[in-house]
Amino acid sequence: MTETKGYAVQDSKSPFIPFSFERREPGDGDVEIEILYCGVCHSDIHQARDEWGGSIYPMIPGHEIVGKVKRIGHNVKRFKVGDLAGVGCFVDSCRTCSSCHDHLEQYCEKHMVGTYNSVEKDLKTPTYGGYSKLIVVDEKYTLRIPESLPLSHVAPLLCAGITTYSPLRYWKIGSGHDVAIMGLGGLGHMAVKFAVSMGAKVTVLSTSKQKESAAKALGAHHFICTKEENAFKENAEKFDFIINAVSAPHDTNAYLGLLKREGVMVVLGVPDKPTALNQASLIMKRRKIAGSLIGGIKETQEMLDYCEKHRITSDVEVISIDYIEKAYERMIKGDVNYRFVIDLSTL
Ligand code: NAP
Ligand code: ZN
Repeated sequence: MTETKGYAVQDSKSPFIPFSFERREPGDGDVEIEILYCGVCHSDIHQARDEWGGSIYPMIPGHEIVGKVKRIGHNVKRFKVGDLAGVGCFVDSCRTCSSCHDHLEQYCEKHMVGTYNSVEKDLKTPTYGGYSKLIVVDEKYTLRIPESLPLSHVAPLLCAGITTYSPLRYWKIGSGHDVAIMGLGGLGHMAVKFAVSMGAKVTVLSTSKQKESAAKALGAHHFICTKEENAFKENAEKFDFIINAVSAPHDTNAYLGLLKREGVMVVLGVPDKPTALNQASLIMKRRKIAGSLIGGIKETQEMLDYCEKHRITSDVEVISIDYIEKAYERMIKGDVNYRFVIDLSTL
């Protein structure tokens, strides 16, 4: 075992404090990664504060991890010492069920081992995330990171990137589609970049009027402030596809009214309370509502390669680890352009 350190919460109410713990020695198929940057996802806040229930403490969040390979096991083929490597939202899965066979490990039918707030396949060893110095992961669940992109801007691709790329690919979004992105945060701003790069006409639906020029700078063609009177009436039945990346409770039915006949809303955000669905908002126009969870390892690698080719990264604000409480506060207020990324050299 290797002694290392991170920042942990001890329960849902206490602030982050430095925390020492151990990582396993790299096994034959493992890579040991020195973590350089880790993005701060709103899911970290939901889980650190137990907003979804069932949180495991002490908790070291963080699932947007990039770093350098320090050691490798004997059988590792795809990485050598010194390579860049990335880790996303999960570090293992059963590898035998139909979802794992279909490269959709995020939907593993037995046990998807979360990068943190989860347990290993032995069902007892807790997992700890990327607000830390070191992580050991099977190379099969480790991503290759393009050398030519700025590393701190790449970290958020491991969750915010793949979570928005995957549904756009699954629903084959491209030119000729009117797409709206709800919530211009970490996920939302990546959704804008991807949808624009795929050729769609993109509108941002935001509660923050002041984000209009920033949304346009990201490539969005239109901007609607949903707080404005008549915003929902004036834009009824406009969109083929809506990505819902909102982190807080909201009136989903109002947004469904913005879909054309047979339009699709894909829900990505997981607010702490369930939403009330008015059946009529689906029935009247044969609309559809669906969900989507991150993406499999194969698709995450494809997304990273796509980002290298199209020069797409996240807009980030790099912070030191001791800024994490303040960063959470600011994210809840929507005050970040658009992802905080922790520089782990500050730990
Ligand atoms: P974030 O950076 O905090 O962004 C959330 C955005 O939601 C805010 O910037 C804000 O945008 C909007 N918003 C906040 N309160 C709102 C309200 N009351 N009504 C309407 N809009 C509101 O969060 P994130 O990291 O992008 O994560 C977004 C959600 O996705 C979280 O719930 C997270 O847990 C979830 N998530 C899901 C997956 C998945 O696999 N499905 C993966 C990662 C994260 P505006 O200021 O533009 O309104
Ligand atoms: Zn995330």
